[in-house]
Amino acid sequence: MSTSSTWSPSSWRDRTVAQAVKYEDPAKLQSVLGKITKLPPLVTPSEIERLRHQLALVQQNKAFLLHAGDCAESFDACTHENITAKLGLILSFSLILIWGARMPVVRIGRIAGQYAKPRSSGTEKIGDREVPSFRGDNVNGFDPDDRKPDPERLLSAYFHSTTTLNCLRGLLASGFASLNHPRDWSLSHVRSPILRKEFERISESISDAMDFSRTIGADGGPSFELGGTHTVQGEVDFYTSHEGLLLDYEESLTRHLPVPPALRKTSDEKAWYNTSAHFVWIGDRTRQLDGAHVEYFRGIRNPIGIKVGPSMQPDELVRLLDVVNPDKVPGRVTLITRYGAEKIAQFLAGHIAVVQKAAHPVVWVCDPMHGNTLTTSAGVKTRHFRTIVSELVACLRIHSECGSRLGGVSLEFTGEINDEGFSVTECLGGSMELNEQELGLRYQSFCDPRLNFEQSLDVAFVISEFFKS
Ligand code: PEP
Ligand code: MN
Repeated sequence: MSTSSTWSPSSWRDRTVAQAVKYEDPAKLQSVLGKITKLPPLVTPSEIERLRHQLALVQQNKAFLLHAGDCAESFDACTHENITAKLGLILSFSLILIWGARMPVVRIGRIAGQYAKPRSSGTEKIGDREVPSFRGDNVNGFDPDDRKPDPERLLSAYFHSTTTLNCLRGLLASGFASLNHPRDWSLSHVRSPILRKEFERISESISDAMDFSRTIGADGGPSFELGGTHTVQGEVDFYTSHEGLLLDYEESLTRHLPVPPALRKTSDEKAWYNTSAHFVWIGDRTRQLDGAHVEYFRGIRNPIGIKVGPSMQPDELVRLLDVVNPDKVPGRVTLITRYGAEKIAQFLAGHIAVVQKAAHPVVWVCDPMHGNTLTTSAGVKTRHFRTIVSELVACLRIHSECGSRLGGVSLEFTGEINDEGFSVTECLGGSMELNEQELGLRYQSFCDPRLNFEQSLDVAFVISEFFKS
């Protein structure tokens, strides 16, 4: 990837920073950043390159991408139970997709660093007080009395990300993802008998297929192989991601490291890797062509996402792609569209057309969450399952009509359950038919409403059915 000579991990500092955080004590910020700069990377170049390769396969119609997790992680929710539940839901969801689409699934969690939140307004009303908005645990506190940005939170975010990643790596290395025990992925609390039965039918069919291939000695089995070395039958690949919003933090984890040997053009080739996550994305509020975020993102070697909403002009989209992917490297850019069910028909086809014309290799992903948020008459932020599915189905259809292909989905969901074994109640509808009165029962999100375990599997079945038919 060519970067002009003027790029450096700090060249974004000369540009306008959207959603900038104002710290009261710049010296303290510098000291925290100095510390993070010396701490070890969280992920490695070979993992990052492996994901880019797998995203190129998604773009070539050989795999499907599942990008999912919380809107915002919180430091308090960093527990073994929650991390296990999140991974379990991502694995269950991907199993349904693999079965329906007969295709490998690339899994990227919104996890191990998804703390910072862009906000539409600098302040928010809590009771009768107007207080600075909550910007995510790595900036300020959810408690309305703790809204002053504190640089120490960046260090805390680094350590919470590290511990989350360590927990994930431990689970994956010790066989949690094995298809031989899909019931371990916390299905026990799913109350809908239909959902349970359908999931069990799929996991039993897969177990049978695996037994059969073992019996006949074809251990590669049904070929879910990805990238040549791992298969979904053994240890699965799982990647981390977050919105690259706080550039101070992203810069301090951006390291000049050797490119893995198989990809090197010269024996000592190095590149700039953002080692805070495998995949980082630019939000819909920070994607200005001449802004700081685009400047930072253009120079890192990681695969990146760009959120695309109704305000994106078609020519602006192509210029953006020219800036962040001038060499048209496959797998480098994932466009995550989020128009809203009402607007997708108006915008998506136009965006697909200009990208096709410019011959930019992109992975198209549907985020059916962020354009479909509403506030109930009681003032609760929610999303309706029906609207989410409606945008998703329209997206699948429009891509086919345009000779394009939807490569994946980006969802906000959670497998979290409370002590009594109940899922969260943040989105309306789904097979459990959650209604407005029930939203207050277990509304736990710090930010946007997430699909719960059952509602997420409902979505997985919708996609799976689409590919089967
Ligand atoms: C998000 O993904 O949580 C988010 C804020 O999305 P967007 O930038 O698309 O609004
Ligand atoms: Mn969100």
